[in-house]
Amino acid sequence: MRLDYLTIFPDYLAPLSLSLPGKAIRSGLLEVHVHDLRAWAHDRHRTVDDTPYGGGAGMVMKPEPFGEAFADLGIGPDGGARTTVVFTTPSGEPFTQQLATELATGERIVFACGRYEGIDQRVLDHAGTIAEVREISIGDYVLNGGEVAALAITEAVVRLLPGFMGNAASLVEESHSGEGAGLLEYPVYTKPASWQGYDVPAVLLSGDHGRIAAWRHEQRLRRTAERRPDLLHASAAGTEWKVVPGT
Ligand code: SAM
Repeated sequence: MRLDYLTIFPDYLAPLSLSLPGKAIRSGLLEVHVHDLRAWAHDRHRTVDDTPYGGGAGMVMKPEPFGEAFADLGIGPDGGARTTVVFTTPSGEPFTQQLATELATGERIVFACGRYEGIDQRVLDHAGTIAEVREISIGDYVLNGGEVAALAITEAVVRLLPGFMGNAASLVEESHSGEGAGLLEYPVYTKPASWQGYDVPAVLLSGDHGRIAAWRHEQRLRRTAERRPDLLHASAAGTEWKVVPGT
C-alpha cells in the first residue's frame, strides 16, 4: 500500500518511521511519502492560506497548491492505483474500525491534512472527480490540524494489512473487531499472578479453555454494557445481556 501525506508540517508525520509502521516501510509492505504542501506555493512567502470569502475569523487553505500537488503526484483516474483521498475534518464521517477495514483494501491513500479553518471546498469537489474522496473525523472535538488525525487513521488501517502484525491472531479478539464485532475487549493480565495484593482472576490460571473463553465473553459484554451501551444495540450479543447493578 502507498500512503501520501500533504501537510505544511511534515515533521508531524515523523512517527511513521517508528515501531511497526517503520518496520513495514523497511520491508516494502508500505510505501510512505510525506510532502510539504508549500512546495506547491510559488510566492516569496510560500503562502498556502488566505482570508475567507464572506468574512469571518481565521484563514482558509488555498486551492492551487493542493490542485498542483494532486497533478504532480499522479492522482487521477489514470494514476494506475485505486486511490482514496482522505480529508481529515471534524465535519467528516466518524472514523470506525469498519472504515479502517474498508480503507485497508485500497492500494493508495492520500491524506490531505487541513490547518487553519480548513481547506477551500473546491479542493474536495475537484478531488472527487479524480479519485474516491472520504472526509473523516476522528472524534467530536477540534484539533489544530489534520496530521494527528491522519496518523491515527494510518495506524488503524496499516495494522490490518496482511503481514503487518507479527501475529495476526492479535487482531481477532480486539475491541470493535473480529468475533463479536462491536464489543470491547476483556481485561488482560500477565505475570506475576499476584501483585501488590491484586490477584489475577483464578479462572485464567485454571487451564480450562472453555471456562476462560466463557469468562472473557462475559467480561466483554459487561464492559461494553457499562462503558458503551450504544455498541450493544448494534450487536446481536446485546440481546442476551442485561446489566445487573453491583454484580
Ligand atoms: N473550522 C473547522 C471546523 O470547525 O470544522 C476546524 C478546523 S481545525 C482548527 C484545522 C484542521 O484540523 C481541520 O481542517 C482538520 O484537518 C483537522 N481536524 C481538527 N479536528 C479534527 C477531527 N476531529 N478529526 C479530523 N481532523 C480534524
